[in-house]
Amino acid sequence: MTENIEIRGSLLQNEPMSRHTSLKVGGPADLFAIPEDGEDLRSLVNQLSMAKMPWMAVGRGYNLLVLDGGIRGAVISLEKFCRIEERGNGRIFAESGADNLDVVRFGQRLGLGGIGFISGIPGSIGGAIRMNAGAYGEGILQRAVCLTILRGNEIREFCISELDYGYRHLSLEPGDILISAMLQLEARDPAITEEEIKKDLELRRTKHNVGFPSAGSFFKNPQGQAAWRLIDGAGLRGTKVGGAGVSELHSNFLVNLGGATAADFLQLSAKVKAEVFKTSGIVLEEEVRIVGEEL
Ligand SMILES: Cc1cc2nc3c(=O)[nH]c(=O)nc-3n(C[C@H](O)[C@H](O)[C@H](O)COP(=O)(O)OP(=O)(O)OC[C@H]3O[C@@H](n4cnc5c(N)ncnc54)[C@H](O)[C@@H]3O)c2cc1C
Repeated sequence: MTENIEIRGSLLQNEPMSRHTSLKVGGPADLFAIPEDGEDLRSLVNQLSMAKMPWMAVGRGYNLLVLDGGIRGAVISLEKFCRIEERGNGRIFAESGADNLDVVRFGQRLGLGGIGFISGIPGSIGGAIRMNAGAYGEGILQRAVCLTILRGNEIREFCISELDYGYRHLSLEPGDILISAMLQLEARDPAITEEEIKKDLELRRTKHNVGFPSAGSFFKNPQGQAAWRLIDGAGLRGTKVGGAGVSELHSNFLVNLGGATAADFLQLSAKVKAEVFKTSGIVLEEEVRIVGEEL
């Protein structure tokens, strides 16, 4: 079925998702597609829909745990969609494939800021919007005015007020593809933005540099609590299952110590949740998106 799909961009059959995720685990996607532009994307989605193949979009894979059986259907990367443009009145338009730091720098050159907190968050704007990525109590959706989404084969613009979102959460429909976002920035001295960028990158260089592949924080922080503290409180720092482990340096980072499978991560995650519940009565929820099929 996948052999009949044609686009101008790249198509990879049976592509191991371990090549596209920061955890370096994950079985093959039936199809990994990199459309060239909007027209190519729509043609791809039309063909997939005619072939009754499901699809999902990915960014840079920094928040993805793909299971060992891989992904049935197509994984669509918008890495060719990288335009960033000024739209007046402090607004910036960014396509999903643009890097977070590039968007911050673009605003900085115009004397606009207020999104310095995403400077060091690895990934694309599409991934950041989908996750409502953030730090220091801020989330990128606080700065979003509207999102352009390909739903089915229709491109629709949503005002942010029409969407349900919150801490590391945005409700979308399965198969929705975020194409771009309009962000509202504020006037800010470029030197101040530079300080924010430097501070954020330095903090991440020291605190997030755990020495092994990770997806950042594996669990969301429960209201008023820090997940790492609960995991530490349960005595789990350094705990291992197969090749997956709770980082010795940051206990909310589950890391690939070498040769881990997604099944190792699932087991480790279940263990962490069970022990944290035993010691604190709190149910941790994964921040990392778990997709695909088990073997
Ligand atoms: C070292 C490290 C530190 C991190 N620190 C932070 C942090 O401080 N704060 C934070 O919030 N996160 C953090 N993360 C997690 C991660 O960087 C963010 O979630 C980031 O926004 C993911 O972007 P991505 O492009 O890699 O998205 P992906 O991981 O590829 O995708 C994430 C989700 O978004 C969906 N998606 C991606 N693009 C699209 C699109 N165009 N349309 C529809 N759906 C899409 C995917 O299907 C998936 O469900 C960290 C990760 C690492 C490895």
